[in-house]
Amino acid sequence: MLSRTPLLLHTADLAAKYLETIADRHVGATTSADALRAQLGGPLSPTGDPDTDIVDALARAAAHGTVATQGPRYFGFVVGGSVPAATAADWLVSAWDQNVGVHVLSPLVAVVEDIAAGWLKELAGLPADWSTGFVTGCQGANFTALAAARHHLLEQAGWDVGAHGLFGAPAIDVVVSDESHYTIFNALRLLGLGASRVRRVPTDEQGRMRADALRDVLASGQGPCIICAQAGNVNTGACDPIADIVEAARARGAWVHVDGAFGLWAAASPSRSHLLRGIDRVDSVATDAHKWLNVPYDCGVVFTAHPDSHRAAMVIGAAYIVETKAERDPRDFVPEESRRGRAVPVYAALRSMGRQGVAEMVDRCCQLATRLANRLSADPSLTILNDVVLNQVLVRVTTGPDPDAATRAMIERLQADGTCWASGTTWHGVAALRVAVSNWSTTEADIDATAGAIIRCS
Ligand SMILES: *Cc1c(COP(=O)(O)O)cnc(C)c1O
Repeated sequence: MLSRTPLLLHTADLAAKYLETIADRHVGATTSADALRAQLGGPLSPTGDPDTDIVDALARAAAHGTVATQGPRYFGFVVGGSVPAATAADWLVSAWDQNVGVHVLSPLVAVVEDIAAGWLKELAGLPADWSTGFVTGCQGANFTALAAARHHLLEQAGWDVGAHGLFGAPAIDVVVSDESHYTIFNALRLLGLGASRVRRVPTDEQGRMRADALRDVLASGQGPCIICAQAGNVNTGACDPIADIVEAARARGAWVHVDGAFGLWAAASPSRSHLLRGIDRVDSVATDAHKWLNVPYDCGVVFTAHPDSHRAAMVIGAAYIVETKAERDPRDFVPEESRRGRAVPVYAALRSMGRQGVAEMVDRCCQLATRLANRLSADPSLTILNDVVLNQVLVRVTTGPDPDAATRAMIERLQADGTCWASGTTWHGVAALRVAVSNWSTTEADIDATAGAIIRCS
């Protein structure tokens, strides 16, 4: 039999070299889609190509065609990199090729998932008896949590949504924040709850849901109610006042969902966990591991305080008979059937950093964001638009006749410059550069180089 070993070792070597040089390269992609097509496309080989040629071709293309999101100066979209232990564990996951849908298909991966779920709840300050599902990302986590909410509330109202759908069901009053992430609306759309029939709660100047306004909105509604709050505004990093929201929701018996894609991890830091006060009293939480926890894609996590509703909303087959199984089947808590062992890199990342290491990484990213904001605000042509409470910095060029155009031009120059990469955004009607510090490997020197590049390009 042909040995796989030479190919796998060669590939590991290529991957390691890619990561070794990631900090020194242009952060953006430096090739075009057409060049990549010319390099990798053409007619499908009729008889197959040598394996080494294939990985060599991919590795060569990666030098210019990937974006250095694994590097220390990528600050776009709240992406995060991957700590070495997580990357290594992910390789094992590929080598094992386990399907963790049901326990019996991979006892090891199912057990590792249970362990990782327990550790995540501990870090996030969530009760140990909450249910957990490992999904593709926070979009999947928001969807799953809201499906559990839909099931739970309609069951309380005497309606079996799994059997009968929403036709003729009692209406659910869906309350969102003016600044809810678009994946919430996507989840509502997919669940038949409607992306536009929601009621919106105004936010404050940092993008936090206003608890007083929520009380007014709740007072004017009736029936089953879902409230979608968020921890970590994608522009400012601000967190909704969760404890106040829970209190307002209580009287109405509403289900409180928190989208904590990246903000949830502030709970792991003793100096920032106050931002998440009340998180242990909500009904569901969605988050990402592939962002701030720095594990490879694809990995989001959903937690709920209602394991039976969560399971009933997702379970494949006989949803109405809760069998007593010796072990949990991971697929019962996610929309997917077959899937890879995406909790294994989470397990490795958490073991590698430990409780303190996660807290230190979160704190370090926040301190670096503050350092960047301080450097930039010292420049008279730049203005920081947000209170830097977490890892997000919004900066804008405020000189000249057209600050929006000047800001967009600065972003274009910055992305072409290649020292760092950050994306543009619109914040309360004005253009801004949004810098998300969420990579474990970013240093003060990286932040200073980034500040220099932004100032140079502005
Ligand atoms: C990134 C993000 C999402 C979506 O997460 P994916 O992992 O891209 O599916 C949802 N909400 C917020 C606040 C986010 O930052």
